[in-house]
Amino acid sequence: MDTPKIGVYVCNCGTNIKKVVDCDEVAQQASEQPGVVCARSYKYMCSNPGQEMIIKDIQEQGLDRVVVSACSPRMHESTFRGALAKAGLNPYFLEMANIREQCSWVHTDPRAATDKATDLTRGAVRRVVFHEALEKRFVDMCPATLVIGGGITGLTAALELAESGNQVYLVEQSGRLGGNLANVDLTAPYLDSARDLIRERILRATRNPNITVFLDAKVESLDGYVGNFKAKVASAGGTVPVEIGSVVVATGYKPFDASRVKAFGHGTNPNVITSFEFEAMLRKGRILTDKGRPPRYVTVIHCVGSRSEEFHPYCSRVCCMTALKYGQEIKSALPDAFVYDLYIDMHAFGKGCEDFYKQASEIRTIFMMFQKNTAPQILPGGPKDDCEMFLRVDDKLSGEEVDIPTDLVVLMVGMEARDDSAEVARLVNISRDKDGWFIESHPKLDPVATTTDGVYIAGCCQSPKDINESVAQARAATARIMAKIAKGRIEVDAVFAEVNQDDCSGCRVCNDLCPYGAIDFNSETRRSNVISAMCKACGACVTACPSAAIKGRHFTDEQIFAQIEGVL
Ligand code: SF4
Ligand code: SF4
Ligand code: SF4
Repeated sequence: MDTPKIGVYVCNCGTNIKKVVDCDEVAQQASEQPGVVCARSYKYMCSNPGQEMIIKDIQEQGLDRVVVSACSPRMHESTFRGALAKAGLNPYFLEMANIREQCSWVHTDPRAATDKATDLTRGAVRRVVFHEALEKRFVDMCPATLVIGGGITGLTAALELAESGNQVYLVEQSGRLGGNLANVDLTAPYLDSARDLIRERILRATRNPNITVFLDAKVESLDGYVGNFKAKVASAGGTVPVEIGSVVVATGYKPFDASRVKAFGHGTNPNVITSFEFEAMLRKGRILTDKGRPPRYVTVIHCVGSRSEEFHPYCSRVCCMTALKYGQEIKSALPDAFVYDLYIDMHAFGKGCEDFYKQASEIRTIFMMFQKNTAPQILPGGPKDDCEMFLRVDDKLSGEEVDIPTDLVVLMVGMEARDDSAEVARLVNISRDKDGWFIESHPKLDPVATTTDGVYIAGCCQSPKDINESVAQARAATARIMAKIAKGRIEVDAVFAEVNQDDCSGCRVCNDLCPYGAIDFNSETRRSNVISAMCKACGACVTACPSAAIKGRHFTDEQIFAQIEGVL
């Protein structure tokens, strides 16, 4: 191998790295390593001037390897690979040393942090010598998409794709489209009709020849990889095989079961109802107690099942605004009624929501704040009382215990991951968090992609959301899919595992090990094979193969041992 010409770039990240690590010293130490032609410290390596500096050095000094000591490769590896490609160098001749997340952010002692950053950089310098030029590969992209879930998110995704001329298979588990939104009367904060909103989309979807709707249906299996999936959809009409390039999971949420909060007596006290039961009353235009009388006092209780130690710690995001909406709808239907709104904290974020909160005060909704992890107590009303019951509340604002007269209690039930979320996650090979919500590729930078290429998540199956956010996610997912469809083929990363067929004994140890289902066994040759488009280069199979038949491209033994020796 010719002696490599290595450039080392130590990023200060403003003060993020520099405040703990002496970046100039790290660069100086790196410059003494064999093969290092230039070593620089710079304030923002990912900035245009930072990248231009690397490109200029590659072109003028003939660098053939680059080390960037900066943040996590997850953050900017693709940026710097792009800079190498722009300079005419194979992008895989780059190695990043993480001296921010793994160094300056976790250490306070400047001496020790500088030494560690120096070691990490030295490891990267030794490793990059053994990097090989790798070429990306391309696979075909089937333009059809499978959308799982027929609520507002799934419908939006299906319409976006279908109205752009693409085939969509829309699979809904229940017997009708519309999801939970189909059970809602008006939407906050602008009081638009949910029925109109959802009905218009259902009509467009069912009339669009590019959309095949399966009701009372289930996706039985999903095989293949991005651009080339094969699914089986089972419904009353039998099982239909479909070929698709992408999958949008939009399975939504399940309303929290209010009977689990024993103190409220939902299911035994007919005048204690959930927000969805109240929506049904609103849609019929009749707000009545069990005695068939319009209530004089209505109390709305927030955070039922949400923000609680006993049930779910998270906020369900839509309940506060929906509770305020009830104040408006009750006052509009029953102008003389008293509306009490019992909350833990009022979350009025989002466009128009603060104004909506203000309007609720103007129509004289009576707000009371109660303690988190406590539940207002329900006491029966007596024969002389003009109400069905009382709610005893420890009012945090006045510091007093108050008995509120009430005829009807509306429980703002939160959102829960659906019971079948584990099954769906297994089917499409994605992960769930501790609450059962599907996990995105990156919460900020890649919120609708997943760790399985070609599988996207949108709406409340990812976490509680309002309608606008769900629709935005559906559109984001479809924009990603349409970009791939427009290209007609998909670029597959050049970093994947490969099986040397001559060395493979066919023991199949690797077959069930791959978390991405990327290993295929050929029953004729009795050898295993990695489907490169599905491989995420996790390395599990490489280390497990008893015949050492699997090589991880870009993670070869030579590269890893050189890095370890460099660090040591
Ligand atoms: S490359 Fe990473 S460490 Fe450097 S400035 Fe950019 S974000 Fe910060
Ligand atoms: S573990 Fe290795 S030897 Fe066994 S089937 Fe897989 S690749 Fe072949
Ligand atoms: S490297 Fe990981 S993802 Fe790739 S085939 Fe092996 S086990 Fe699967």
